[in-house]
Amino acid sequence: MAGDIDISPNRFARQLRWLSRWRRVVPLVDTLSTGSDRRVALTFDDGYRDNLTVALPLLEKFQMPMTLFVTAGFVDRRGYLSEEELRTLAGHPLITIGAHGLWHRHFNRITFDDARFELIESRRLLQEITGREIDLMAWPFGECNDELEQLSKECGYRAAWSVWQGTNSSHSRWRVPMGRKDNLFRFVAKATGAYALTKARWHRLREGKSRATLPATSWEVRA
Ligand SMILES: [Zn+2]
Repeated sequence: MAGDIDISPNRFARQLRWLSRWRRVVPLVDTLSTGSDRRVALTFDDGYRDNLTVALPLLEKFQMPMTLFVTAGFVDRRGYLSEEELRTLAGHPLITIGAHGLWHRHFNRITFDDARFELIESRRLLQEITGREIDLMAWPFGECNDELEQLSKECGYRAAWSVWQGTNSSHSRWRVPMGRKDNLFRFVAKATGAYALTKARWHRLREGKSRATLPATSWEVRA
């Protein structure tokens, strides 16, 4: 994929093996409570079909939970999960479904009304398909700001995940992105928080803010 935001099944399996030994992989909502420990949450974005065919068998093998942030408008497209598959996944004990916009638009570039429509419609559609409450979301491209975070609250979301943007507070959460170039050394740096601390500082500086806090160790494999 463009941006090297994919991971081979073999490498992913090795990473899960490392996590099974050194970290506690928990459902994403468990990372919303404070406390510094070895908790890690796994998330996948967009709703690709290989979440079902490739990732799930490996997660079942290691008995690790994951959250799938599904772009509601992409359901049933070629290469993406079908409605039927999404329904099945939503009922799986290891899986939580979250929203990821309706059409994967750049939220920083659209009008406030369009953003509201995206947030409400994607949630409504996913709830209709899965028959479950959807109250977690991830921003497409990780794009958000204070107004959008507030809007996502008003639209019924309990928390929203970016990559480095946002405040990394109780509602606005960061993730560490993973990709093809992550060898085990880089993976461990990311999984232990060392990478996040450095990268977060860099990002804050770039934004002209001096504040730097350690993000939760949850990440996005595909943005
Ligand atoms: Zn995405």
